[in-house]
Amino acid sequence: MKAPRTPPDAAQRSKLQDELRRDVAARRQGYRERALKILPHVCASCGREFDGRRLKELTVHHRDHNHENNPPDGGNWELLCIYCHDHEHEKNRLAGHYEGAVAAKETLAPSIFSPFSALDALLPTTAPSETDASGKSDKSDRSAR
Ligand SMILES: [Zn+2]
Ligand SMILES: [Zn+2]
Repeated sequence: MKAPRTPPDAAQRSKLQDELRRDVAARRQGYRERALKILPHVCASCGREFDGRRLKELTVHHRDHNHENNPPDGGNWELLCIYCHDHEHEKNRLAGHYEGAVAAKETLAPSIFSPFSALDALLPTTAPSETDASGKSDKSDRSAR
């Protein structure tokens, strides 16, 4: 029998650490497993179905955004595909600033757009007739003099 390179203590410690890590991962995965058991495997937002290997694209969203809040009836869970889940969080991240941005846009819009639309209406009609009229009046002015 060969002497082990690492003393049994260290081996045991790393084994314990492995078990701890697995335990943490399992606890983190726990609500997902439970959610998948009680909820239909359908994205609550886009309605796509997920099964087999694609099931991993279906993620658990916490309605109150508190990952510690995992009631057994699943009331805080929503199954969302990874795309809709991203979108859901993007929406909520922007929500705080969105009202201010909309108000600013609405007050800016008339002052920015009305001068340009007024110019658009004026330019094509006035520009050609002005040069036409000045060319003719120039000639008639010279011939008259
Ligand atoms: Zn989706
Ligand atoms: Zn979420």
